[in-house]
Amino acid sequence: MHSRPKVAFTLTATALSAAIALSACGGGSDGLTPAPAPASAPAPAPAPAPAPPPDPLAKAPDAVRMTWFGITNWHYQIGDLGVMLDGEVSFPGRNPDPTMVGKAYAALQKHGTVDVLLVGHVHPDHSVSMPEWGKQTGKHIYAPKPVCDAAVAYGLPTDQCTAINGGETFQLNDFVTMRVVRWVHSVSCGVFDQGTDNANGGGPSTYGFLFTVQTKDKSKQLTWFVHDSGAGGAELVTNRIAGGVDYGAPLSNLAKAMKDAKLDSFELWVPGPESRTVGQARVIVPAFSPKYFIPHHIDERPSSTGPFNLLTGPQYLYDKADFPKLTAFLAANNIPEFIPVGYMDAWTYDTSGVNAIDNADTKALLGLPASGPGPMALGPNPRVGTGTLECTED
Ligand SMILES: [Zn+2]
Repeated sequence: MHSRPKVAFTLTATALSAAIALSACGGGSDGLTPAPAPASAPAPAPAPAPAPPPDPLAKAPDAVRMTWFGITNWHYQIGDLGVMLDGEVSFPGRNPDPTMVGKAYAALQKHGTVDVLLVGHVHPDHSVSMPEWGKQTGKHIYAPKPVCDAAVAYGLPTDQCTAINGGETFQLNDFVTMRVVRWVHSVSCGVFDQGTDNANGGGPSTYGFLFTVQTKDKSKQLTWFVHDSGAGGAELVTNRIAGGVDYGAPLSNLAKAMKDAKLDSFELWVPGPESRTVGQARVIVPAFSPKYFIPHHIDERPSSTGPFNLLTGPQYLYDKADFPKLTAFLAANNIPEFIPVGYMDAWTYDTSGVNAIDNADTKALLGLPASGPGPMALGPNPRVGTGTLECTED
């Protein structure tokens, strides 16, 4: 749209210069033609130089502010766009808690906005609060169909929620693109999950989100892949078929999204769940060479000191010692880990990398300490010793 008027203007300016040049060198100076009448009118104003085209990246973001607030709850402030994943603050309750959503929403607004709402899969530690988030923010939800159904049953307009199936590309604004990748839910040791919403014995359909953000530097994008559950090995490379529909294999679904985004690698990987991630890492790392790692899906289970509660801080921490295979694998591949500890821990992710930042003012709104866990006492990770964080075969 910009080029046409610009071209027209350039031609006009050129024509005007030519006319000026003609009148200067051919305007009767040979004496054969009368000179034009002396100009009594003011000389024509010189043509203004064409304005440089506006920089299309002038308003592009330089960084993403990433905030974790328990389990798989994330808020990404990408320039003036705020994206929230899961936002489950009612767990272990089975109904949305409007007061708790209100507190979390107010806290996130300390340094950002909430404009887009996402859910990775339907389970009470991820999806119960979403209808209330939709109600309080009035913003659009992208989620598995059961979440949209729940949102409508809760009173939200049907057009406020888009049911995702995987393979979609959403241009969230001029600079931020989100691709939905059909992934897979986690499994226990020795189990293979279909991930087909209980058809053919499968667990809930589960989705990851591949983000690409164009920065002000034309040659640099920020790229991350986040998912709130997952499983590894054969789980990632087997096509899921249900009801005559082939939903692809998680890895090939991601490869398709990467190709569509013209990417060979993404920089930041935020995989769920906390269990058996090493199986995914062994497939993902060689395929897509992530540079940074943030574990999540922490604190959904009650420890000896209590259940998940956004206002009490974590009841247990992610401890590398509980994940010896994953820790060793990441170290061997020189992938640094950025481990969430306290709710509302925040990082910036920009073209120089991932860096922790202070978020004490947000934490204070929830009665949480400026840094570290608390105020609740920490207990042990309840899955330590169960053999399910990393199975023997992982
Ligand atoms: Zn979960």
